[in-house]
Amino acid sequence: MSNCVALVRAVVLCAGSGSRTGLSYNKILHTVGHKSVLEMTLDGLYGIGVDSITVVISPRDENNVRKITSDCPNLSLCYGGDTRTESARNGLLSLEPCDIVIIQDGARPYTSGETYLRSVASAVSYGSGIAAVPATDTVRMKESDGSSVLIPRDRLYNLQTPQTFRYAEILSAYKSFKGVATDDSAVYEAAGYKCRLIEGSTSNVKITSKEDLFSLGGDLKVGVGFDVHELREGRELILGGVHIPHLLGLYGHSDADVLVHAIMDALLSAAGLPDIGVLFPDTDPRFEGANSMKLLEKIYAEIKKLGFKVGNISAVVMAQKPKLAGHIPAMRDNLARALSADISRVNVSATTTEHLGIVGEERGMAASATAIIQKEEA
Ligand code: MG
Repeated sequence: MSNCVALVRAVVLCAGSGSRTGLSYNKILHTVGHKSVLEMTLDGLYGIGVDSITVVISPRDENNVRKITSDCPNLSLCYGGDTRTESARNGLLSLEPCDIVIIQDGARPYTSGETYLRSVASAVSYGSGIAAVPATDTVRMKESDGSSVLIPRDRLYNLQTPQTFRYAEILSAYKSFKGVATDDSAVYEAAGYKCRLIEGSTSNVKITSKEDLFSLGGDLKVGVGFDVHELREGRELILGGVHIPHLLGLYGHSDADVLVHAIMDALLSAAGLPDIGVLFPDTDPRFEGANSMKLLEKIYAEIKKLGFKVGNISAVVMAQKPKLAGHIPAMRDNLARALSADISRVNVSATTTEHLGIVGEERGMAASATAIIQKEEA
């Protein structure tokens, strides 16, 4: 992995039948929008820069999985077995040696980059990193006489995947393990190793039932925003919070960051809130010269209050000059930070208008944005 000295491989388990979803095909092949559950899971792993991925499949899914993964770099397939334990073992045995291996359910499309990275860091330091969330239900253990004993909940955790380990240790644990385990931590522990938990997330769900498939899209709302500002001499050019050297800058009551204004309006529109002209009127002296990134943070706080987070943002800046491509990574970084979102959820592009109109004549710049916001898991 590029940001980590360790060689990190992933084993993605997809050999189950997924019969509880009631689908006639494996749930990992279920498509949401343009992507299957499996592709979403793989995107998450590629997002953290794993060195290779092995997808463990059932032979009956081979053609479909090959179609889905034909463009995926450093990816191989291997056949699973009758149980999860056999499938994980087959996956591990097929790996080229490495330092760290992430074992992931193919049907966990929402694992965040942070969760993956926490599990890898824990495995590097302690040998294992098992994603887990505190148990929320009260748990009782049944006795043979029919009575039950309360188990104190404060130290109980529900386990998820990724479950990440030092490769040599988990491989030897699987080689010596007899029987069937429900997860990898059980196999690792049976070999005498200690399992280290890392913070998972309640949104890191495994798609198991029909209801999960319906909830896949979540509660989504979409909004659009558009803005134009005039270019003048003696003004700073600020786009996406980035100060860009240029002879002209955008003119307006605030810092006139046209990109951030379009994004704010897209978010507000998605949330069903009034637009920035209403929230931050240009007649209000408090907003004179205002830093638009700060206003964006305020709007994000409002959206959070309504129980939403950013699904993704896609924006385009229209400017004849200067060339903006080199500044886009910094813009995305600023925007992602203000919105507490992963950078992969914030995209910005730039275009000229071929010397046509107010943008093309360099009298102004424009921006348009689309935002999707998504109900947060309670
Ligand atoms: Mg504006």
